[in-house]
Amino acid sequence: MNPYENAIKQFEEVAKRLHIEEWIINRLKKPERELAVNFSLRLDSGDIINVSGYRIQHCSVLGPTKGGIRYHQDVSLDEVRALSMWMTWKCSVCDLPYGGAKGGVCIDPKKLSKTEIERLTREFTRKIADFIGPEKDIPAPDVYTNAQVMDWMQDEYSKIVGKDVKAIVTGKSIANGGIVGRETATGRGGFFVLQRFLERTGNKAERVAVQGFGNAGRNMAKFLADAGFKIVAVSDSKGGCFKAEGLNIEELIAWKMQNGSVVGFDSTEKISNAELLELDVDVLVLAALENQIRKENADKIRAKVIVELANGPIAKEADGILFERGIEVLPDIIANSGGVIVSYFEWLQNLSNTKWNAEKVDSELKEKITSAFDKVFDLARLNGSSLRNAAYEVAIRRVVDSLRKKFKQS
Ligand code: NAD
Repeated sequence: MNPYENAIKQFEEVAKRLHIEEWIINRLKKPERELAVNFSLRLDSGDIINVSGYRIQHCSVLGPTKGGIRYHQDVSLDEVRALSMWMTWKCSVCDLPYGGAKGGVCIDPKKLSKTEIERLTREFTRKIADFIGPEKDIPAPDVYTNAQVMDWMQDEYSKIVGKDVKAIVTGKSIANGGIVGRETATGRGGFFVLQRFLERTGNKAERVAVQGFGNAGRNMAKFLADAGFKIVAVSDSKGGCFKAEGLNIEELIAWKMQNGSVVGFDSTEKISNAELLELDVDVLVLAALENQIRKENADKIRAKVIVELANGPIAKEADGILFERGIEVLPDIIANSGGVIVSYFEWLQNLSNTKWNAEKVDSELKEKITSAFDKVFDLARLNGSSLRNAAYEVAIRRVVDSLRKKFKQS
């Protein structure tokens, strides 16, 4: 399904349930501002290629817009539109003073050298410079972009406006105004959300399986292991490994660095990604790709709780099946919001020209994500609904209330 149509459908369902006025539904179905850019890039070989990119601001009613920029060959206008809408809901549910945005450049960065990626980044920044701003629209890293790419964007933007503007992007290197803890923030946030869920429900959990061992999954696995959880299985794009007594995560991280995969680690049993999803564990962390649980395998999931660190890892048709089966899903817009929350702290740090330490970042993240979760949890229990429905309801209501206020007739 087209991701934008999917995002619209998801929004309309909640909006209709909440009896939101037609004009607001139609307004929020479409992004507020869209920019498409086309430019040429000189490769190291001297050849020239043409590149397309986008920056889309879905809704600025709650504040400046915020969202990552991805470099990927499959980037499309509709994908970026959908992602910008999801960012609106994510910022809203976490009570951040931001609207949602997203950007993308349609290119395979794995085929480019570092200097080509730098030229690409600087040219893209020049093309979108008028459209973004520290109090207008603040980009961040996303798929295949990182702190280095953000440093180049920050530098290029600063040259254009003639002064050093740190707050133009977040996810920068620490040396260039980044914040401590941004790298691990998504995993850390997911950990806090799970911890709070267990506190609120009184459920006990010990055995965990983690699909995806990149930034999000690896860090969450580490925080969980440090807190005494037993990580019995993890996987990456090449397959997975299983050990009933629990994996040593520090050693597994080192193994993956050396061998390029978690497969074959220590004295573990090799398992497939499909098998990992169906393990008899207390918690399943999804930290890889979209649509991992679909109607074909939703009946086979044995975990009691699923944490969505990835965006959209559970297909819409599987959601109802899991809910009927009493499996709790901690939804992506809240479970993986640690990254955007710490980005918000980085932005505050840059605007006020101060530096936060690790303890402050950690405690403020915990406070922000836990209180957002509590609001969602209370509503879900009150409505007898899934946590996902409640999260969307909280998020959409906040945006809608703000829009209504702006158009209130005196
Ligand atoms: P990453 O590229 O660092 O890691 C992705 C991991 O998934 C890798 O280990 C890769 O091998 C694995 N993977 C790929 N295909 C797989 C498959 N078929 N089965 C199992 N594993 C597979 O990416 P990341 O930053 O960790 O992001 C993972 C997900 O989390 C994405 O959906 C991303 O949008 C979401 N997310 C990440 C952040 C963040 O701050 N990193 C924030 C919000 C959401």
